[in-house]
Amino acid sequence: MMSSIKPLIAGNWKMNGLRSDMDEFAAMAQGYSSELAGKADAMICPPFTLIAALANHPDRGALAVGAQDCHTASSGAHTGDISGGMIADCGAKAVIVGHSERRQDHGETDALVAEKAKAVWDAGLTAIICVGETEAERRGGTTLAAVEQQLSGSVPQGATAQNSVIAYEPVWAIGTGLTPGIDDVAEVHGFMRSFLANNLGGEGTAMRLLYGGSVKPGNAAELMAVPHVNGALVGGASLKATDFLGIIRAVS
Ligand code: PEP
Repeated sequence: MMSSIKPLIAGNWKMNGLRSDMDEFAAMAQGYSSELAGKADAMICPPFTLIAALANHPDRGALAVGAQDCHTASSGAHTGDISGGMIADCGAKAVIVGHSERRQDHGETDALVAEKAKAVWDAGLTAIICVGETEAERRGGTTLAAVEQQLSGSVPQGATAQNSVIAYEPVWAIGTGLTPGIDDVAEVHGFMRSFLANNLGGEGTAMRLLYGGSVKPGNAAELMAVPHVNGALVGGASLKATDFLGIIRAVS
């Protein structure tokens, strides 16, 4: 049976993007808005420095803009940090929290990620909450236990299909060109759906579950066809309009 959940393709530009890249964004936005907006929702999460410019770009059309992180507090003495309210003020609609690069580079724990998700909600935005096993956990056969622990700790009570999206991103698949087997993706996404339905009821059943890790135009159709995969979180391939649009085109 076809899923009734509209897919979301979200691009994570990470620490890439200058004002000179706004033409690439404009090309994505025009291609998406003119031919693909009916197929899937789509979003680009640039670095903080570009959020306002992209969100207010005259060619943005239906392509939404998000952020890659935020602080847990709404304002105050936190030098160098950015709040959910500031992100909303720039015109963004969502914030990625708990990306594995932040968990690794900044020691972010599940508890901190959960606090960030609540701060995102308080700002009226959607939290894209990332989980995923390391290579050692995959090799050790503890993938589902690792994902369960992250879901338990990082997805706060009060999560709904409107205020939250879950992204399953195996750490070893991010930026490596490696992807799990289709059966492995199906196993984790089926597990996440059951976990969220058991814990959040109908909201967990309706919540979007994204796959992320080396998604490209060439593998997107196969990955997006897996049951309970409701879109993708895309890193490297979201930097070029042809690649990003190719991924959206591959959504069935
Ligand atoms: C990511 O950083 O979220 C990601 C999935 O990166 P890539 O697509 O480059 O593997």
